[in-house]
Amino acid sequence: MSTDILLPYDEAVAKYETVIGLETHVELGTQTKLFCGCSGEFGADPNTQVCPVCLGLPGSLPVLNEQAIASIVKIGLALNCRIAEWSRMSRKNYFYPDMPKDFQISQYDEPLCIDGYLDVLVDGETVRVEIERVHLEEDTGKTSHVGGSTGRIHGATHSLVDYNRAGIPLVEIVTRPVVAGAKAPQIAKAYVAELQDLLRGLDVSDVRMEQGSLRCDVNASLRLWGADKLGTRTETKNVNSLRSVERAVRFEVSRQAALLDAGERIVQETRHFHEDTGTTSSGREKSDAEDYRYFPEPDLVPLAPARDWVEAVRATLPEPPSQRRARLVAEHGFSAEEMRDMVNLGVLDAVLETIVAGAGAAEARGWWTSYLAGKAAEAGVDAVDLPITVTDVARVCALVSEGELTAALARQVIDGVLAGEGTPEQVIEARGLKVAGEDELIAAIDGVLASQPDTADKIRGGNLGAVGALIGAVMKATGGQADAKRARELILERINAG
Ligand code: ADP
Ligand code: MG
Ligand code: ZN
Repeated sequence: MSTDILLPYDEAVAKYETVIGLETHVELGTQTKLFCGCSGEFGADPNTQVCPVCLGLPGSLPVLNEQAIASIVKIGLALNCRIAEWSRMSRKNYFYPDMPKDFQISQYDEPLCIDGYLDVLVDGETVRVEIERVHLEEDTGKTSHVGGSTGRIHGATHSLVDYNRAGIPLVEIVTRPVVAGAKAPQIAKAYVAELQDLLRGLDVSDVRMEQGSLRCDVNASLRLWGADKLGTRTETKNVNSLRSVERAVRFEVSRQAALLDAGERIVQETRHFHEDTGTTSSGREKSDAEDYRYFPEPDLVPLAPARDWVEAVRATLPEPPSQRRARLVAEHGFSAEEMRDMVNLGVLDAVLETIVAGAGAAEARGWWTSYLAGKAAEAGVDAVDLPITVTDVARVCALVSEGELTAALARQVIDGVLAGEGTPEQVIEARGLKVAGEDELIAAIDGVLASQPDTADKIRGGNLGAVGALIGAVMKATGGQADAKRARELILERINAG
């Protein structure tokens, strides 16, 4: 399928400057859909949350959801946008079974929010990502292609449509082209993470990438360094995790650079991202002026948000992320860099919830940003999507601080929870994990001392650096169940006594 030739990333970015653009779709968590009273709750049986309006039956009329307008205005304000004084919904016409009306009500030339920005920090450097527009539209139904091997339409024997999602309010946030250069993959990922954090704070969506309530299309193009014209872009769809955003950009850079090096042209097209291989493959070719025959939606009146209403919405905004972070830094003793790490890994809220569930701040941060982040990278998912709850993590932190678990044992407990072996307590019970008792520890130490008399002599001679090696050996002898601090005390005690 993907027979693309790739140029190694470092070579590609030495020769070409990367420009990216992100289109992010956010499903709003409003009580009802955009134009009808149906619930948009995730996970219901197919086609149980539908009515004549969202099924597009003839004669039904849309009624705009006020809560959705308030939500998008909140988003626009939080992204430093100007709120238009006049805005209108349009019909985007296309023929596809996921949209039973054969058109999607969206916004075209008169979006509600314009000209904002979001600052992201990558490697200590602030990059301002300019927002071109934030607009409102209705989501489409969801099609599943059955009978083929890939879940794609090619080779499928039939397709199923679920209209539960049709008509859910969707906010689309479109950036201007970002001249990102070699750090484009990290900038793209940091932007989506930052946006996710901001949206979570606004409480307008649950922003779960893996459930599709936050979806991202990643545009990327290359140009020779020094060129002033933008190159031809591709738009990669299905990018469903922060990690994938980064990988998708990286792959496109290597692929496009190889084509340009071979003197070939980049085709402007949509591409699909494949989680398993980290590659993209060609979707459909797409010209700039696709003919959607947009025209103003005749069944809805234009929107002219009153200034005092906009100000009232502004007054409901929570503290801005920068202020929230400054407060959290002070409250929990995080450094600015640690905060940034948590945001960019998408785990800030998980860390805060773990603290609320009883863990110490440093411990909670430590687990999420190192061990769990590592496990997530191995599994190819975001850390928050690992099968472990904040309560589990908090419980493990508590057991470590109570001296019931060593760090090594705690990692085994986490591994067990991730493997589906149950709660931390159940894993501890089933795997027989407990810190070695004093007698057991002394026995292990004496064994190690007997087998390494030279090391013991060195320590006796004042070389305390050698203690580490003995602690390591004791750890090994106890299957990671020794308390390292106590082991150190006992080793010194027994060497000095002996
Ligand atoms: P479409 O609906 O065709 O995807 P949009 O205007 O909604 O068009 O989104 C295009 C996205 O691609 C925007 O984020 C824009 O900044 C970005 N973009 C436009 N031109 C380029 C380019 N040459 N390289 C990278 N990104 C681009
Ligand atoms: Mg697009
Ligand atoms: Zn409905």
